[in-house]
Amino acid sequence: MLVIGLTGGIGSGKTAASDHFEKLGITVVDADVASRTVVEPGKPALQKIAEHFGPDMILEDGGLNRAMMRTRVFATEEDRLWLESLLHPLIAEEIIGGLQNSQSPYSILVSPLLLETSQATLAARILVIDVPVDLQVERTMTRDNNSEEQVRAIVAAQSDRQQRLEKADDVIVNDRDLIHLHQEVEKLHQNYLKLAEIS
Ligand code: ATP
Repeated sequence: MLVIGLTGGIGSGKTAASDHFEKLGITVVDADVASRTVVEPGKPALQKIAEHFGPDMILEDGGLNRAMMRTRVFATEEDRLWLESLLHPLIAEEIIGGLQNSQSPYSILVSPLLLETSQATLAARILVIDVPVDLQVERTMTRDNNSEEQVRAIVAAQSDRQQRLEKADDVIVNDRDLIHLHQEVEKLHQNYLKLAEIS
């Protein structure tokens, strides 16, 4: 099974691109969805989180208190590492399950942390959605209704654009309209179909 890993910074157009692959009939496995699934109410990971960080981490509805968790792991590296060592293998398992269920000629694994985690090892090729920083900030501000300062802080905390590009096998520069993005996806789709035939 040919797996293409799709990544990019915040607001680069990962979802816009992966939605189009999906429209072309390709299975898309989303690491963000997997990371939410593993901490759904009743999942064993939640119990472990409550034992480690205290029962306050669980909301009344049984879900994870994400805001509290974020504050905690942002402040203490040890806590972040503990949480990652709990969740990353579970997320990987969830992703692998999704990829194994795929019936399409190849599959897309979309993940903001593809290159920062072992998720990259699941992909035969890396597709980076690249965008100039000012445009990235502008699109993200419009989408999330956030201030420029907030968005720039997130961009600064993520991997550097250049570092990401160095690891790419394929790149889509998403600096034009959505029609152009879709055309670029369709070109790569043709390449990936050929690769899937020989792999
Ligand atoms: P995140 O990492 O935050 O989930 P993302 O990489 O999935 O973001 P998208 O949500 O796909 O990014 O795109 C960010 C915003 O920019 C969205 O509102 C999307 O509709 C818009 N957008 C993406 N590509 C284009 C484009 N080529 N032209 C105009 N708007 C675009």
